[in-house]
Amino acid sequence: MALLSIVLPAYNEEQNIANTAKVLADLLTENEIEYELVFISDGSRDATFSEIRKASEGNPCVKGAEFSRNFGKEAGIFAGLELAAGDAVIVMDCDLQHPPQVIPQMWKLWQEGAEVVEGIKLSRGRESLAHKLSAGLFYRIMSRLVRMDMSASSDFKLLDRKVVDVLLELPERNTFFRALSFWAGFRTETVHYEVQERQFGESKWSFWSLMKYAVSNATSFSTLPLQLVTVIGLVFLLFSAVLGIQTFVKFLMGTAVEGFTTVILLILIVGGFLMLSLGIIGHYIARIYEEVKGRPKYIISHVTDNMRESVKKNPRSAKGQTGNS
Ligand code: UDP
Ligand code: MG
Repeated sequence: MALLSIVLPAYNEEQNIANTAKVLADLLTENEIEYELVFISDGSRDATFSEIRKASEGNPCVKGAEFSRNFGKEAGIFAGLELAAGDAVIVMDCDLQHPPQVIPQMWKLWQEGAEVVEGIKLSRGRESLAHKLSAGLFYRIMSRLVRMDMSASSDFKLLDRKVVDVLLELPERNTFFRALSFWAGFRTETVHYEVQERQFGESKWSFWSLMKYAVSNATSFSTLPLQLVTVIGLVFLLFSAVLGIQTFVKFLMGTAVEGFTTVILLILIVGGFLMLSLGIIGHYIARIYEEVKGRPKYIISHVTDNMRESVKKNPRSAKGQTGNS
């Protein structure tokens, strides 16, 4: 029988673990799907990992690992993919904002031959205005850069073992899971879902963490900003040619002095764009620097007892492995 792994990245979600584990276990048992729940505690500072341990003692299908510090949701997803043993893997938030009721539908599509099942948001759940605005801006920029409509996509998806292995083979460290499954291709189906209310705790994204996420994803997935620098350069070259000719003509006609404002403005504008361009290039150099260093995406400090087996069996997951408890 086929095994379904569900990967759940969790950061400070102590209130959610027990409930989520129970809801998923009940649902999957009811639908007679053989499953494992892989919780990845992303360096949580609360009792998230002990909650995972507790859940795992009550139900051997619940497994978990804890990072040595907060590495971010991307790292959590990838750790989960590496540790998952399933023939199909679903990634979802552990706050149940991704409705579990959709899982049997995803599973059915997979059984019918789909290799990727994308969860598409029908609408965003109720959020604060600031969050909505920053998330809106983020998706607008991302869709442009990635050249795919990202506005309705989410990290809620099912991947076939083949696709998981492809993603795990990617050498890069700065990943953008949401777009990578598009990039990988494969036979893709979609399911639509309504984002649910978060029951416990609060969203882990602040305006700045979202902006950082946007910049990091943009630079890891697209070189468009770099090309933008060239375009801006060209526009200014053209502009300066026109201005140059005008100045020269004025000089010939003997009306050269004046236009001090133009000079000041030009210096400011060109200076501004130069700084911006350098900043953009700097971001890419930082990315290259990080990739070249080749550090692991995450470091696991603890795993649940039943997880130790899969860490041993899967040498790849040992890459990010230290600690022993
Ligand atoms: N998360 C994580 N690491 C982080 C931030 C978030 O693993 O650094 C997890 C979090 O526990 C949750 C999921 O990512 O399971 C989505 O986070 P959240 O619900 O805060 O985001 P939102 O639903 O508001 O977009
Ligand atoms: Mg959430």
